[in-house]
Amino acid sequence: MFKIPRGTRDFTPDEMHKRRYIENSMRNTFQTFGYREIQTPMFENLELFTAKSGETIIEELYAFKDKSGRDLALRPELTAPVIRLYVDKLQMKPKPLKLFYFGSCFRYDRPQKGRYREFTQAGCELIGTDTPEAYAELIALAYTLLKNVGLKNIKLNIGNLTVLSTIFKKIGLTKDQQRYIIPLIDKALFEELYSALQDFNIKNTKITDFLEILQTSDLEKIKKYIMEDETVSKELDKLEEIFDLLNNCFKIKNYQIKMSIVRGLDYYTGLVFEIEAPMLGAEKQLCGGGAYELISLFGGKDTPTAGFAVGFDRTILALETEGQEFPLPGVDVYVIPVNREMVKKTLEITQLLREKGLSVDVDLLRRGLSKSLKYANSLNASKAVIVGPDELKKNAVTLRDLKSGEQKIVKIKQLPDTIF
Ligand code: AMP
Repeated sequence: MFKIPRGTRDFTPDEMHKRRYIENSMRNTFQTFGYREIQTPMFENLELFTAKSGETIIEELYAFKDKSGRDLALRPELTAPVIRLYVDKLQMKPKPLKLFYFGSCFRYDRPQKGRYREFTQAGCELIGTDTPEAYAELIALAYTLLKNVGLKNIKLNIGNLTVLSTIFKKIGLTKDQQRYIIPLIDKALFEELYSALQDFNIKNTKITDFLEILQTSDLEKIKKYIMEDETVSKELDKLEEIFDLLNNCFKIKNYQIKMSIVRGLDYYTGLVFEIEAPMLGAEKQLCGGGAYELISLFGGKDTPTAGFAVGFDRTILALETEGQEFPLPGVDVYVIPVNREMVKKTLEITQLLREKGLSVDVDLLRRGLSKSLKYANSLNASKAVIVGPDELKKNAVTLRDLKSGEQKIVKIKQLPDTIF
């Protein structure tokens, strides 16, 4: 027997039904915010990802050579591909550009619950604007997307990397020291962070203030701490405006300031945000995003960019953990011939109903009425149409409601209108 590769999954029809349902809800939300869907290839030139994230990313990639010796990689995320596409084909389009996508991503991660080697991201990029309203709308979209699929218990955290960099500078951390502590901040390992900062010979009072600022959700406190810097005070004012718009226009109040959001410090430029589902435990992050700079790196004319990616699989896990009920898969009608002679007419009726837009399945096993009715129930069919010789003489069939068991004789002509 062949086994499925480690970190990948199959999806049964029931699971696919659920996934498509969520995907449709998300697609609908993206569209109500004025976004348009795009698609890029599953694999790209390896360089695209090393340019964005450095050579160390190769460790996490499915990278390979093709038969002509080209270095390629299965995409680990979609921001770089979307910006490549933008620079290649969409630069001349009127701004802002609002693009969304769904797609499989591949990372050589250590598989566990909520972490796979092949997983799906739903995400978007907003190109050509960096106004507070653009950012507020982007955050509102991420939040609404997850609310609209039915999630009840999610946490939205908003930070800013310009502010974080200024905090780093304020306590005098070198680039190397920053690089060392970033993973500790990312994982909220504050005790380890404390020891590391002590090892860097930073005064205890400075460390305590630093840790407090990283963990506070009080914007005033943060402002006071880094008052003197002009660029950062502009960022803080902008953040305040974003909060005001979120509160008063998008009616989203359920968020927290979190300066310890790090993400990719190399290409994120200011705003960063995350949404988590606390119930999921270790792999609780559902969404990550912010403002970033990649266009000039990819040879395009610089313009502001921001976006986010939602982990589609984790969203489903979170919904299941919350006990969300999903609509059951099923068909509208199951059509049954009572004997062999009725097969042709049965197929004709099936097609007639399909042409009316109903989802219709038909007995293809010639298995007789009672077994067919059982099978129809297993398909979660709403109605059965039974085609028998006596009724057919009068151009009619039996229409049976599979939930109530009621049945009546209906003229074939009137069948499509009688079914629902
Ligand atoms: P990132 O591109 O790392 O910011 O990831 C965006 C989102 O994708 C995360 O918040 C997760 O929800 C999801 N995600 C990232 N890596 C994985 C993975 N290996 N398996 C499942 N979901 C993932």
